[in-house]
Amino acid sequence: MSDYESGTSIDAFESSLSLHPESDQTPGLSDFSEQDKPWDKHRGNADRVSEHYARSRYQKYSSRINDCSQWLDFRLVPEALPSVYKLKLSNAKFCRVRYCPVCQWRRSLMWKARAYQALPKVVEDYPKHRWLFVTLTVKNCPVQELRTSLNWMNKSFIRLTKLKDFPGVGWIKSIEVTRGRDGKAHPHIHCLLMVASGYFGPNYLSQERWTKLWQQSAQLDYKPITHVKAIAKHHDPTVIVPEILKYQVKESDLIANREWFLELTKQLHKSRAVAVGGVLRSYIAELEREPKDLIGEDNACDVDEGHLYFEWKREQKKYKLVDS
Ligand SMILES: [Zn+2]
Repeated sequence: MSDYESGTSIDAFESSLSLHPESDQTPGLSDFSEQDKPWDKHRGNADRVSEHYARSRYQKYSSRINDCSQWLDFRLVPEALPSVYKLKLSNAKFCRVRYCPVCQWRRSLMWKARAYQALPKVVEDYPKHRWLFVTLTVKNCPVQELRTSLNWMNKSFIRLTKLKDFPGVGWIKSIEVTRGRDGKAHPHIHCLLMVASGYFGPNYLSQERWTKLWQQSAQLDYKPITHVKAIAKHHDPTVIVPEILKYQVKESDLIANREWFLELTKQLHKSRAVAVGGVLRSYIAELEREPKDLIGEDNACDVDEGHLYFEWKREQKKYKLVDS
């Protein structure tokens, strides 16, 4: 493995620092760190979301997103090989606007880290229980009706959990909204469901039965689309974490259409993206709250062998190394 893949050689840092800071040759964050490549994409999309909000009723969001994560301060953390370092984010200012692509990404990373930490403890405490990944949908709706539709889906989900046949003893539920080709909104519920081992016996629910139960709970006059996937016995539920805790609205849908996005912002104002229920509440109820920390907990080590600073260059769509 080359230094480039495993970390960054200190010689590369030194030679790059001597380059002129304004030159196009100035190395970018993505040249230093493979794992920090997503920064450029998210910050680039943040510029587009900020433009969407500009001169709208959400002008304030526009300015806040514009100022978000303009500077990144990374600490050099030594790797096993001599003179090879990893970058660890040490400081940055985040705007925390809900649909800021950078903040949405950081929030999702923090939530995932929490879930990866907590779920193994649940498996330890309930070794015989099994896990399902359930997706519940309703028909697409005009984006202007999204709030009404989501309120109804959330109420319907509560009704579902109260049915005699509902097998879940704990769940993490998240709401995702995608944009249909026709510009309609497609809201759906993803749910990681913990069920007693008896589910794969007398209490088993077929796909058809799940569809019936959801149709009944949501009082739909049509057959809704549902999807139920069992997580293999030898797998722990963390395999589903990336699915369940992904973005409420994916980035490509945030930037696709300004009017749609402004209406979405209005419709989803103060709505909750993630809910935790049943026995899981005592393990990971914090997934319902905004993470305090978007930088990342630091358990790497206390060693501080220097810092690298990067600044967002809007024109070049890249974070570039700066000298101070
Ligand atoms: Zn932000």
